[in-house]
Amino acid sequence: MRLDELGEFGLIARIAETVGAGRESVIVGIGDDAAVLKTPSAGYLLVTTDACLEGQHFRRQWLTANQIGRRAAGAALSDIAAMGGEAIAVFVSAGLPPTEEVAFAEQLICGVHEAAAEHGAALAGGDTFASPDRIYLDIVVVGQAQQPWLRSTAQPDDVLLVTGTLGEVSAALHLLESGQPQDVDGLPSALRQRFARPTPQFAVAGCLQQLSQPPCAIDISDGLVQDAAHIAEASAVALTIQAAHIPVAEACREVATEAGADPLQWALIGGEEYELLLAVPRASVEQACTLVEAEGVELTEIGCVTAGEGITVVDADGKEIELDQSGWDHFGPS
Ligand SMILES: [Mg+2]
Repeated sequence: MRLDELGEFGLIARIAETVGAGRESVIVGIGDDAAVLKTPSAGYLLVTTDACLEGQHFRRQWLTANQIGRRAAGAALSDIAAMGGEAIAVFVSAGLPPTEEVAFAEQLICGVHEAAAEHGAALAGGDTFASPDRIYLDIVVVGQAQQPWLRSTAQPDDVLLVTGTLGEVSAALHLLESGQPQDVDGLPSALRQRFARPTPQFAVAGCLQQLSQPPCAIDISDGLVQDAAHIAEASAVALTIQAAHIPVAEACREVATEAGADPLQWALIGGEEYELLLAVPRASVEQACTLVEAEGVELTEIGCVTAGEGITVVDADGKEIELDQSGWDHFGPS
């Protein structure tokens, strides 16, 4: 059946049935004029929005409908994790061509629902509309934090830490763009997981609540160097990144080497990684590493914060490394 046969309300009713009640703090979810959320008893509400457009942010031929929904929700949820928060409710507005199959639309929304549920949040509402040709998704996430982590709190002498490994998404993109394989299901498993199911770092956000002061943090959505520049600017400090310390993923090394590219550049510049970049005082580094590693996540010291401005990436001899490009800017020159 096509969407123009089922209609908007038919689709919403089906989605509401699939999604169910969700979590306790969502008093009313899908179905009324607005969702009703219980106000956190302490701390702050967090709200973020993240939109994606077919052809611009994803290629339909690479992903299933479920994977498109999961990726979009993962990216939006990651911003709540980057604020040191917990996700409560997810809202999705979807633009779909009326000639689209109902099953495709359901799978797309199910992908959003599954990603939300995996991270403890409920899909609590949204909107649907007819899009002339391409798929459009806008995801809003409401979360809460006792003490939000900001980009603007890095201090000179802080240490830069990054979770996980970098470069897998660039490697996956390189393979997909070269047409080998034709979709994410043909990617090596480490790359498939990373590209199709980005993991917001809620485990890290949870365990680092034990630090005596909240870290400065950002999620790596635009690329390590670009996101580091966001911290430098917001905190009015300079950041130095030691290239030799970057945790470049093994799969990135393999694919880049095969392609005659530099894996380090992929790890420095590639976006959509959804790892966290943190700045913490030297005295907290050991505790942070112990806490994060207990969650099964690597935490690597990659540089430091000093007085000044801007980003410098240096090699083992302290010599500055030139970058191919600084990262992702939606409206910037490509
Ligand atoms: Mg972000």
